Amino acid sequence: MARFSVVSLAKNAFSHHENWERQWRSPEPKPHYDVVIVGGGGHGLATAYYLAKEHGITNVAVIEKGWIGGGNTGRNTTIVRSNYLWDESALLYEHSLKLWEGLSQDLNYNVMFSQRGVMNLGHTLGDMRDLQRRAHANRLNGIDCELLDAKGVKDFCPIIKTDNIRYPILGATLQRRAGTARHDAVAWGYARGADERGVDIIQNCEVTGIRRKGGKVEAIETTRGVIRCNKVGLVAAGHSSVLAAMAGIRMPVESHPLQALVSEPVKPIMDTVVMSNTIHAYCSQSDKGELVIGAGIDAHISYAQRGGFHIVEGTLQAICEIFPIFSRMRMMRQWGGIVDVCPDASPILSKTPVEGLYVNCGWGTGGFKATPGSGHVFAHTIARDEPHELNAPFALDRFSSGQLVDEHGAAGVAH
Ligand SMILES: Cc1cc2nc3c(=O)[nH]c(=O)nc-3n(C[C@H](O)[C@H](O)[C@H](O)COP(=O)(O)OP(=O)(O)OC[C@H]3O[C@@H](n4cnc5c(N)ncnc54)[C@H](O)[C@@H]3O)c2cc1C
Repeated sequence: MARFSVVSLAKNAFSHHENWERQWRSPEPKPHYDVVIVGGGGHGLATAYYLAKEHGITNVAVIEKGWIGGGNTGRNTTIVRSNYLWDESALLYEHSLKLWEGLSQDLNYNVMFSQRGVMNLGHTLGDMRDLQRRAHANRLNGIDCELLDAKGVKDFCPIIKTDNIRYPILGATLQRRAGTARHDAVAWGYARGADERGVDIIQNCEVTGIRRKGGKVEAIETTRGVIRCNKVGLVAAGHSSVLAAMAGIRMPVESHPLQALVSEPVKPIMDTVVMSNTIHAYCSQSDKGELVIGAGIDAHISYAQRGGFHIVEGTLQAICEIFPIFSRMRMMRQWGGIVDVCPDASPILSKTPVEGLYVNCGWGTGGFKATPGSGHVFAHTIARDEPHELNAPFALDRFSSGQLVDEHGAAGVAH
């Protein structure tokens, strides 16, 4: 596979960029693999990449029912941060953030990781106490976090309106190392890296059944035939419980629509990410100039990649309240993804009661930021048949032991 470099860019510029090599193959499925990953989103592709790179397991297939990155990976608002409350989550997300910091170099693929800072706003005294607690917890875990007052917020993001609004802004936490990345480049970069190491990426192939023998996984049934395998990793986000049910496992996961929208592109006006739990809005500006705005989940359970209009309407009201400067901008596109939400708003990265079957799901509204770290520790779990120390607290048995990792406060925007 040709490497991206100044020389290769210049060479291809002379041939009008018409001679770039394909970034990954489109092979026919083989009859047998050591490991099959179900789901070609960022997490599935990252798992395959690290299986090959770190564990030398290359007889691997990633099976995707649509196109890679067409699920939540290509539908999210790309906020990357690690300022979670509990030690278990903070360490896992910080592991991921550290991998993000070297990801473009590692993959030789520009994932456009931009550490432009993320502010979480506080509008009430209750909010401020909660943010202060999180800031202290983050610092104790070695994670950068600053507490700003209202003036500090305005200095960092001058277009924000802090007072004379329904919920005045009293302050915020700021994680300067946090930011955004280019979502589909992450999927493509991992796909290219995995393919380069021998992984087969099979698109337009839906998994329809999981065969077991004597309590052990034996094969998967797909729309392109039966594929035998020693191990299966389910990394299917909103469809995780559907897939796990194929192996007789009932997952503690609910699937909800989550919507996002982007505006028409404008000149650079906002060079950070702003999130508000209380009035429910989060916003950044993409490198193309579009405002990228995230809404809340629709309360109902659904597998449709769209949601109710009243949800986006409420979000835009909130955005206009803190950014009156945006009030006449036109929204260009709006869409939804299906997010997999656990009762404690934390993920599941775990072995299952079926030997050789592993699950990676429950990332809900906030798993994009975890893509590198999740793939890294899940590959370890599959390769060694035991959890990495960072994902041990996120096993399925926490729902029977009661050792939940409740991140409802930090996981999203009051989702
Ligand atoms: C609107 C929105 C905004 C978000 N904003 C953020 C954010 O700002 N920051 C953040 O960190 N996270 C965010 N998230 C969450 C984040 O997008 C997800 O947690 C993350 O992308 C999940 O990645 P994944 O690889 O597990 O899932 P996906 O990318 O959804 O991949 C799963 C894949 O499995 C495939 N699949 C399903 N069933 C089958 C089957 N039977 N056979 C074969 N393939 C199958 C699907 O087609 C899909 O491609 C947001 C999500 C949404 C929807």
